[in-house]
Amino acid sequence: MKKYLNIVADSFTGYFNYLVEEINNPSWTNYFYWLLGLSLLVWILEILTPWRKEQKIFRKDFWLDSFYILFNFFLFSLIGYNALSNVGVALFNDFLGLFGIKNIIAIEVQELSMVSQLLIMFIIADFIQWNVHRQLHKQPWLWEFHKVHHSIKEMGFAAQFRFHFMETIVYKSVQYIPLAMIGFGIEQFFVVHMFAVFIGHLNHANLGWNYGIFGYIFNNPKMHIWHHSKELPSDRPHGMNFGLSLSIWDYIFGTAYIPEEGKDIELGFEGDEEFPEGFKNQTFFPFRKENKIIQRKNLKNENKAI
Ligand SMILES: [Zn+2]
Ligand SMILES: [Zn+2]
Repeated sequence: MKKYLNIVADSFTGYFNYLVEEINNPSWTNYFYWLLGLSLLVWILEILTPWRKEQKIFRKDFWLDSFYILFNFFLFSLIGYNALSNVGVALFNDFLGLFGIKNIIAIEVQELSMVSQLLIMFIIADFIQWNVHRQLHKQPWLWEFHKVHHSIKEMGFAAQFRFHFMETIVYKSVQYIPLAMIGFGIEQFFVVHMFAVFIGHLNHANLGWNYGIFGYIFNNPKMHIWHHSKELPSDRPHGMNFGLSLSIWDYIFGTAYIPEEGKDIELGFEGDEEFPEGFKNQTFFPFRKENKIIQRKNLKNENKAI
Protein backbone atom coordinates (compact mmCIF):
# COMPACT_ATOMS: atom_id res chain seq x y z
CA MET A 1 0.00 0.00 0.00
CA LYS A 2 2.80 2.36 0.98
CA LYS A 3 4.42 1.73 -2.37
CA TYR A 4 1.29 2.91 -4.21
CA LEU A 5 0.95 5.96 -1.97
CA ASN A 6 4.56 6.85 -2.72
CA ILE A 7 3.84 6.56 -6.41
CA VAL A 8 0.90 8.97 -5.98
CA ALA A 9 3.05 11.47 -4.07
CA ASP A 10 5.94 11.21 -6.55
CA SER A 11 3.58 11.62 -9.48
CA PHE A 12 2.18 14.85 -8.07
CA THR A 13 5.49 16.48 -7.23
CA GLY A 14 7.17 14.95 -10.27
CA TYR A 15 4.55 16.24 -12.64
CA PHE A 16 4.43 19.69 -11.09
CA ASN A 17 8.21 20.04 -11.34
CA TYR A 18 8.03 18.75 -14.89
CA LEU A 19 5.42 21.33 -15.88
CA VAL A 20 7.36 24.23 -14.35
CA GLU A 21 10.48 22.98 -16.10
CA GLU A 22 8.59 22.66 -19.41
CA ILE A 23 7.56 26.30 -19.26
CA ASN A 24 11.02 27.48 -18.23
CA ASN A 25 12.94 25.43 -20.77
CA PRO A 26 11.71 25.74 -24.33
CA SER A 27 13.05 22.87 -26.41
CA TRP A 28 12.15 20.79 -29.47
CA THR A 29 10.43 18.13 -27.38
CA ASN A 30 8.47 20.50 -25.20
CA TYR A 31 4.75 19.69 -24.92
CA PHE A 32 3.77 23.12 -23.64
CA TYR A 33 5.32 25.13 -26.47
CA TRP A 34 4.33 22.68 -29.18
CA LEU A 35 0.71 22.82 -28.03
CA LEU A 36 0.87 26.61 -27.89
CA GLY A 37 2.58 26.82 -31.30
CA LEU A 38 0.18 24.42 -33.05
CA SER A 39 -2.82 26.19 -31.53
CA LEU A 40 -1.60 29.58 -32.76
CA LEU A 41 -0.79 28.17 -36.20
CA VAL A 42 -4.26 26.65 -36.71
CA TRP A 43 -5.96 29.73 -35.26
CA ILE A 44 -4.06 31.98 -37.71
CA LEU A 45 -5.13 29.68 -40.58
CA GLU A 46 -8.75 30.03 -39.40
CA ILE A 47 -8.42 33.81 -39.33
CA LEU A 48 -6.76 34.00 -42.78
CA THR A 49 -8.97 31.51 -44.64
CA PRO A 50 -12.20 31.00 -42.69
CA TRP A 51 -14.81 28.53 -44.00
CA ARG A 52 -17.74 30.27 -42.30
CA LYS A 53 -16.80 33.85 -43.03
CA GLU A 54 -19.34 35.30 -40.60
CA GLN A 55 -18.00 33.28 -37.63
CA LYS A 56 -16.25 35.46 -35.06
CA ILE A 57 -12.54 35.01 -34.35
CA PHE A 58 -13.48 34.69 -30.69
CA ARG A 59 -16.39 32.36 -31.47
CA LYS A 60 -18.97 31.07 -28.99
CA ASP A 61 -17.23 29.26 -26.12
CA PHE A 62 -13.73 30.16 -27.33
CA TRP A 63 -12.58 30.81 -23.77
CA LEU A 64 -14.37 27.80 -22.34
CA ASP A 65 -12.60 25.57 -24.86
CA SER A 66 -9.26 27.26 -24.20
CA PHE A 67 -9.75 26.39 -20.56
CA TYR A 68 -10.55 22.80 -21.55
CA ILE A 69 -7.24 22.66 -23.43
CA LEU A 70 -5.40 23.75 -20.33
CA PHE A 71 -7.38 21.39 -18.12
CA ASN A 72 -7.33 18.29 -20.26
CA PHE A 73 -3.80 18.66 -21.51
CA PHE A 74 -2.10 19.85 -18.33
CA LEU A 75 -4.14 20.27 -15.20
CA PHE A 76 -5.85 16.92 -15.37
CA SER A 77 -2.46 15.26 -15.51
CA LEU A 78 -1.26 17.53 -12.77
CA ILE A 79 -4.06 16.86 -10.32
CA GLY A 80 -4.74 13.25 -10.91
CA TYR A 81 -4.29 11.33 -14.09
CA ASN A 82 -0.53 11.07 -13.80
CA ALA A 83 -0.88 9.64 -10.31
CA LEU A 84 -3.71 7.32 -11.28
CA SER A 85 -2.00 5.95 -14.35
CA ASN A 86 1.27 5.31 -12.50
CA VAL A 87 -0.61 3.40 -9.81
CA GLY A 88 -2.57 1.56 -12.50
CA VAL A 89 0.61 0.51 -14.28
CA ALA A 90 2.25 -0.60 -11.01
CA LEU A 91 -0.85 -2.57 -9.99
CA PHE A 92 -1.01 -4.16 -13.40
CA ASN A 93 2.65 -5.17 -13.33
CA ASP A 94 2.33 -6.52 -9.78
CA PHE A 95 -0.73 -8.49 -10.85
CA LEU A 96 1.26 -10.03 -13.70
CA GLY A 97 4.10 -10.66 -11.25
CA LEU A 98 1.76 -12.94 -9.25
CA PHE A 99 1.80 -15.28 -12.21
CA GLY A 100 5.53 -14.89 -12.73
CA ILE A 101 5.07 -12.73 -15.82
CA LYS A 102 7.62 -9.94 -16.04
CA ASN A 103 6.27 -8.23 -19.12
CA ILE A 104 3.55 -8.83 -21.66
CA ILE A 105 5.51 -7.94 -24.75
CA ALA A 106 4.22 -10.23 -27.47
CA ILE A 107 5.85 -8.60 -30.48
CA GLU A 108 9.26 -6.95 -30.36
CA VAL A 109 9.18 -3.76 -32.39
CA GLN A 110 12.38 -2.32 -30.93
CA GLU A 111 14.46 -3.75 -33.76
CA LEU A 112 12.55 -1.79 -36.38
CA SER A 113 13.61 1.70 -37.39
CA MET A 114 12.29 4.58 -35.32
CA VAL A 115 10.06 5.79 -38.18
CA SER A 116 8.40 2.38 -38.62
CA GLN A 117 7.92 2.06 -34.87
CA LEU A 118 6.18 5.41 -34.66
CA LEU A 119 4.08 4.67 -37.72
CA ILE A 120 2.91 1.31 -36.32
CA MET A 121 2.14 2.88 -32.99
CA PHE A 122 0.21 5.72 -34.62
CA ILE A 123 -1.93 3.37 -36.72
CA ILE A 124 -2.67 0.92 -33.92
CA ALA A 125 -3.41 3.65 -31.37
CA ASP A 126 -5.72 5.40 -33.84
CA PHE A 127 -7.62 2.20 -34.64
CA ILE A 128 -8.14 1.52 -30.94
CA GLN A 129 -9.37 5.08 -30.49
CA TRP A 130 -11.79 4.72 -33.39
CA ASN A 131 -13.30 1.70 -31.64
CA VAL A 132 -13.45 3.46 -28.29
CA HIS A 133 -15.07 6.50 -29.90
CA ARG A 134 -17.79 4.30 -31.39
CA GLN A 135 -18.49 2.89 -27.94
CA LEU A 136 -18.69 6.43 -26.52
CA HIS A 137 -21.65 6.90 -28.85
CA LYS A 138 -23.21 3.46 -28.45
CA GLN A 139 -23.12 2.80 -24.70
CA PRO A 140 -25.61 5.06 -22.90
CA TRP A 141 -23.42 5.62 -19.82
CA LEU A 142 -20.39 6.52 -21.95
CA TRP A 143 -22.50 8.80 -24.12
CA GLU A 144 -23.36 10.89 -21.02
CA PHE A 145 -19.65 11.76 -20.74
CA HIS A 146 -19.15 12.20 -24.47
CA LYS A 147 -22.04 14.68 -24.66
CA VAL A 148 -19.62 17.31 -23.35
CA HIS A 149 -17.69 17.15 -26.63
CA HIS A 150 -20.88 17.18 -28.66
CA SER A 151 -22.22 20.24 -26.86
CA ILE A 152 -20.10 22.34 -29.26
CA LYS A 153 -22.41 24.68 -31.16
CA GLU A 154 -19.76 26.57 -33.13
CA MET A 155 -16.61 24.88 -34.39
CA GLY A 156 -13.10 26.16 -33.93
CA PHE A 157 -9.71 24.51 -33.36
CA ALA A 158 -9.90 24.65 -29.54
CA ALA A 159 -13.11 22.59 -29.55
CA GLN A 160 -10.96 19.48 -29.94
CA PHE A 161 -10.14 19.60 -26.25
CA ARG A 162 -13.69 20.11 -24.98
CA PHE A 163 -14.23 16.66 -23.51
CA HIS A 164 -14.94 15.17 -20.12
CA PHE A 165 -11.85 14.02 -18.19
CA MET A 166 -13.35 10.52 -17.96
CA GLU A 167 -12.62 10.18 -21.69
CA THR A 168 -8.90 10.43 -20.97
CA ILE A 169 -9.24 7.58 -18.47
CA VAL A 170 -11.30 5.42 -20.83
CA TYR A 171 -9.09 5.99 -23.90
CA LYS A 172 -5.78 5.53 -22.07
CA SER A 173 -6.84 2.44 -20.14
CA VAL A 174 -8.07 0.68 -23.25
CA GLN A 175 -4.93 1.65 -25.17
CA TYR A 176 -2.46 0.70 -22.51
CA ILE A 177 -2.57 -3.09 -22.69
CA PRO A 178 -2.35 -3.56 -26.48
CA LEU A 179 0.42 -0.98 -26.78
CA ALA A 180 2.35 -2.53 -23.90
CA MET A 181 1.99 -5.91 -25.60
CA ILE A 182 3.93 -4.68 -28.58
CA GLY A 183 6.58 -3.12 -26.42
CA PHE A 184 5.52 0.52 -26.51
CA GLY A 185 5.49 2.66 -23.42
CA ILE A 186 2.58 5.08 -23.42
CA GLU A 187 4.88 8.01 -22.65
CA GLN A 188 7.34 7.51 -25.45
CA PHE A 189 5.41 8.85 -28.37
CA PHE A 190 5.89 12.59 -28.36
CA VAL A 191 5.90 12.92 -32.16
CA VAL A 192 2.81 10.73 -32.60
CA HIS A 193 0.99 12.60 -29.89
CA MET A 194 1.73 16.07 -31.23
CA PHE A 195 0.86 14.98 -34.77
CA ALA A 196 -2.52 13.73 -33.51
CA VAL A 197 -3.07 17.04 -31.69
CA PHE A 198 -2.35 18.91 -34.94
CA ILE A 199 -4.80 16.85 -37.00
CA GLY A 200 -7.40 17.10 -34.23
CA HIS A 201 -7.05 20.89 -34.15
CA LEU A 202 -7.53 20.99 -37.94
CA ASN A 203 -10.58 18.66 -37.78
CA HIS A 204 -12.37 21.15 -35.56
CA ALA A 205 -11.03 24.30 -37.21
CA ASN A 206 -13.15 26.73 -39.20
CA LEU A 207 -11.46 25.60 -42.43
CA GLY A 208 -13.17 24.25 -45.55
CA TRP A 209 -10.54 21.57 -46.19
CA ASN A 210 -10.74 17.89 -47.07
CA TYR A 211 -7.17 17.32 -48.38
CA GLY A 212 -8.46 15.96 -51.71
CA ILE A 213 -7.62 12.29 -52.16
CA PHE A 214 -5.81 12.22 -48.80
CA GLY A 215 -9.18 12.83 -47.16
CA TYR A 216 -9.78 9.09 -47.53
CA ILE A 217 -6.82 8.50 -45.22
CA PHE A 218 -6.84 11.50 -42.90
CA ASN A 219 -9.79 12.85 -41.00
CA ASN A 220 -10.54 16.45 -42.02
CA PRO A 221 -12.73 19.46 -41.17
CA LYS A 222 -15.30 18.74 -43.92
CA MET A 223 -15.73 15.18 -42.64
CA HIS A 224 -15.60 15.77 -38.90
CA ILE A 225 -18.26 18.48 -38.98
CA TRP A 226 -20.77 15.76 -39.90
CA HIS A 227 -19.73 13.85 -36.81
CA HIS A 228 -21.04 16.83 -34.84
CA SER A 229 -24.31 17.12 -36.77
CA LYS A 230 -27.33 17.52 -34.52
CA GLU A 231 -29.57 15.70 -36.94
CA LEU A 232 -28.64 12.07 -37.56
CA PRO A 233 -29.73 10.00 -40.55
CA SER A 234 -32.38 7.46 -39.50
CA ASP A 235 -30.16 4.51 -40.46
CA ARG A 236 -27.28 5.86 -38.33
CA PRO A 237 -28.83 6.53 -34.91
CA HIS A 238 -25.44 6.38 -33.15
CA GLY A 239 -23.72 8.73 -35.57
CA MET A 240 -20.98 8.50 -38.16
CA ASN A 241 -17.39 9.54 -38.98
CA PHE A 242 -15.85 8.25 -35.76
CA GLY A 243 -12.23 8.69 -36.90
CA LEU A 244 -9.80 10.66 -34.79
CA SER A 245 -6.67 11.18 -36.91
CA LEU A 246 -7.43 8.69 -39.67
CA SER A 247 -10.63 8.56 -41.72
CA ILE A 248 -9.70 5.26 -43.34
CA TRP A 249 -11.45 3.14 -40.66
CA ASP A 250 -14.76 4.84 -41.42
CA TYR A 251 -14.34 4.10 -45.12
CA ILE A 252 -13.36 0.48 -44.46
CA PHE A 253 -16.18 -0.24 -41.99
CA GLY A 254 -18.89 1.78 -43.70
CA THR A 255 -19.33 4.49 -41.10
CA ALA A 256 -18.19 7.35 -43.37
CA TYR A 257 -20.92 9.84 -44.23
CA ILE A 258 -20.55 13.17 -46.07
CA PRO A 259 -23.85 13.73 -47.93
CA GLU A 260 -23.11 17.34 -48.90
CA GLU A 261 -21.06 20.33 -47.81
CA GLY A 262 -21.68 20.61 -44.07
CA LYS A 263 -20.53 24.19 -43.69
CA ASP A 264 -23.66 25.53 -42.00
CA ILE A 265 -25.34 22.45 -40.51
CA GLU A 266 -26.62 22.69 -36.96
CA LEU A 267 -24.21 21.16 -34.47
CA GLY A 268 -25.03 19.43 -31.19
CA PHE A 269 -27.28 16.56 -30.13
CA GLU A 270 -30.94 15.91 -29.46
CA GLY A 271 -31.86 17.74 -26.25
CA ASP A 272 -28.71 19.88 -26.06
CA GLU A 273 -30.87 22.90 -25.09
CA GLU A 274 -30.91 21.40 -21.58
CA PHE A 275 -27.15 20.83 -21.46
CA PRO A 276 -25.24 23.04 -18.97
CA GLU A 277 -22.94 25.75 -20.33
CA GLY A 278 -20.00 26.14 -17.94
CA PHE A 279 -17.04 23.89 -17.19
CA LYS A 280 -18.08 22.93 -13.66
CA ASN A 281 -21.65 21.96 -14.54
CA GLN A 282 -20.55 20.09 -17.65
CA THR A 283 -18.02 18.14 -15.59
CA PHE A 284 -20.57 17.16 -12.94
CA PHE A 285 -23.36 16.57 -15.46
CA PRO A 286 -22.81 12.80 -16.06
CA PHE A 287 -22.64 12.13 -12.31
CA ARG A 288 -25.87 13.91 -11.41
CA LYS A 289 -28.58 11.73 -9.95
CA GLU A 290 -31.50 13.22 -11.82
CA ASN A 291 -29.81 12.43 -15.15
CA LYS A 292 -29.52 8.81 -14.14
CA ILE A 293 -33.24 8.75 -13.29
CA ILE A 294 -34.14 10.27 -16.65
CA GLN A 295 -31.85 7.76 -18.37
CA ARG A 296 -33.47 4.84 -16.57
CA LYS A 297 -36.93 6.11 -17.48
CA ASN A 298 -35.90 6.42 -21.12
CA LEU A 299 -34.48 2.93 -21.05
CA LYS A 300 -37.71 1.57 -19.56
CA ASN A 301 -39.75 3.32 -22.22
CA GLU A 302 -37.48 1.95 -24.92
CA ASN A 303 -37.88 -1.55 -23.52
CA LYS A 304 -41.63 -1.12 -23.45
CA ALA A 305 -41.57 0.02 -27.05
CA ILE A 306 -39.68 -3.13 -27.99
ZN1 LIG B 1 -18.17 11.74 -30.92
ZN1 LIG C 1 -15.05 16.51 -32.49
